[in-house]
Amino acid sequence: MQEIDIIVVGAGIWGCTVARTLAEKGRKVLVLERRAAPGGNVRCETDAESGIEVHTYGSHIFHTHLDDVWEFVNRFVTFNGYQHKVLARYNGKTYFLPLGLTLVNQFYGLDLKPSELPAFIAKEAGTAHGEPSNFEEQAISFIGRPLYEAFIREYTRKQWGMDPKNLPASIIKRLPVRASYDLNYYPDYRQGIPLTGYNSLFERLLDHPNIALECNVDWLEWRRTTNHELPVFYSGPIDALFGYKYGPLPWRSLRFETERIDVADWQGTSVVNYTGADVPFTRIHEFKHYHPEQKDVMAHPSTIICREYPKTWTPGDEPYYPVDTPASREKLALYQAEAAKCPNLVVGGRLGEYKYYDMDQSVGRALAVALQFCGR
Ligand SMILES: Cc1cc2nc3c(=O)[nH]c(=O)nc-3n(C[C@H](O)[C@H](O)[C@H](O)COP(=O)(O)OP(=O)(O)OC[C@H]3O[C@@H](n4cnc5c(N)ncnc54)[C@H](O)[C@@H]3O)c2cc1C
Repeated sequence: MQEIDIIVVGAGIWGCTVARTLAEKGRKVLVLERRAAPGGNVRCETDAESGIEVHTYGSHIFHTHLDDVWEFVNRFVTFNGYQHKVLARYNGKTYFLPLGLTLVNQFYGLDLKPSELPAFIAKEAGTAHGEPSNFEEQAISFIGRPLYEAFIREYTRKQWGMDPKNLPASIIKRLPVRASYDLNYYPDYRQGIPLTGYNSLFERLLDHPNIALECNVDWLEWRRTTNHELPVFYSGPIDALFGYKYGPLPWRSLRFETERIDVADWQGTSVVNYTGADVPFTRIHEFKHYHPEQKDVMAHPSTIICREYPKTWTPGDEPYYPVDTPASREKLALYQAEAAKCPNLVVGGRLGEYKYYDMDQSVGRALAVALQFCGR
């Protein structure tokens, strides 16, 4: 590809969707990626010994209710129909999430019917008094103290590194309790993992004659030495784009501890949340369960698990979750105002928008900006 019309910075799911959409509209696109391979945080590695697809940056399950997004991704990969269930370990027992009839009946030793659950939860929640002034009071006002203390309090403390009493009430808008035995973690019926693995999604998205990919290139360095007036779709951190002139935006980071265990099945499911204070990690992932169709991998005598530890983010750490506070919103607005002054610049993706997006939302937003750029 000789000439270039547009530069896309970052080959995560946002950047690859933008690049593909622009390429199909006839634009010649150069994708620059800082890491050694495309995929962003959805990138996986296949374990050579067992064939297990290891999700390098934490478990990723594709789920959506968005028709155009589902149609788009299915042009490139076929999903295996995996439906996500999450269990919780608390006080030596295993429970089924989400908060619903299964969990409530098991936890309280009851046999409530769907029609009886809302009144039961309302009675539990009714023991809270006054206007909630923090996260803890707000959560108790939704589900009552026993469920809160077992499944929310310590998990939240580990996740955010803060006592929930010191978190604002506003970050928890609702805490739905399902009046059914539906154990599907996500409400979306379109779910799955690509049969050929996540990396194949990115290889296929970028496999177009109008797309060139260069890895191991940091655009923030590259632009210092390369003069161009081309439009740029940028999906790196918005604060880095402006040299952190208003200071870095705060993130919560994670540390993953991966272990091979010589047993075919270690925990019997893909994800277990550890909701108590007895262990410092929040979740254990066992990746082979994401591909139940891979009979050889499932039967392999070893498995790979990964403990997930939340950690304080310091510059240089991988940013995972934006920390939404009035101060961070104010800082973000300053960076957004800088970006708005730059013609030919579109900032997007989770790092660019400083927002947690699921993969389908990232794809949806990428389709929208790319199509808008091309006048649809
Ligand atoms: C722990 C965790 C679990 C998750 N699980 C799920 C899930 O189960 N289901 C779901 O739908 N979503 C999940 N998500 C969300 C999902 O990870 C995001 O939706 C997705 O990664 C966003 O894609 P992106 O392209 O915006 O960002 P990224 O994946 O971060 O991609 C951005 C890319 O830009 C590159 N880049 C940055 N700066 C530069 C630069 N200066 N020059 C060149 N390249 C640069 C980066 O290296 C990266 O490759 C999860 C997120 C987390 C944190």
